[in-house]
Amino acid sequence: MAWNLDIKGLIHPFSALAQGFKQPHTLSYPVEQRAEVTGYRGFHVNTISDCVGCGNCQDICMNEAIDMVEPLSPEAMNPKNASGLVPRIDYGRCCWCGLCVDVCGPDSLRLEGDCVYVSPDADSFLYMPKDK
Ligand code: SF4
Ligand code: SF4
Repeated sequence: MAWNLDIKGLIHPFSALAQGFKQPHTLSYPVEQRAEVTGYRGFHVNTISDCVGCGNCQDICMNEAIDMVEPLSPEAMNPKNASGLVPRIDYGRCCWCGLCVDVCGPDSLRLEGDCVYVSPDADSFLYMPKDK
């Protein structure tokens, strides 16, 4: 009787064991945080003192993800903001295309690196951009 030894098959379980000593490819969030990537399109930020309330960002948004609302801190608002309103983003609709940022004349609206948000409350995905 001829022996047909399957060397690869014999070693295979040990190579799987070796994986247990390797560094994981995932992060233990929130203990470990992801390093920021320059140019990443994360959450919106809006410098309220620069925003003029023109609504260009709302008009350009093809997903209708922006509505104009009263700011959380009206005292910080730009005195030239004629409408008295600032954009709020619906992250159930936004696709992070960045068009709203492109059309913002005073460059008050931007996308920042932060992108992790978890909530069981669907209404909390109506997001007021941080004032930065
Ligand atoms: S990034 Fe695009 S989809 Fe999201 S709010 Fe701006 S224009 Fe709308
Ligand atoms: S964020 Fe920019 S485009 Fe939107 S209302 Fe303010 S100034 Fe206008």
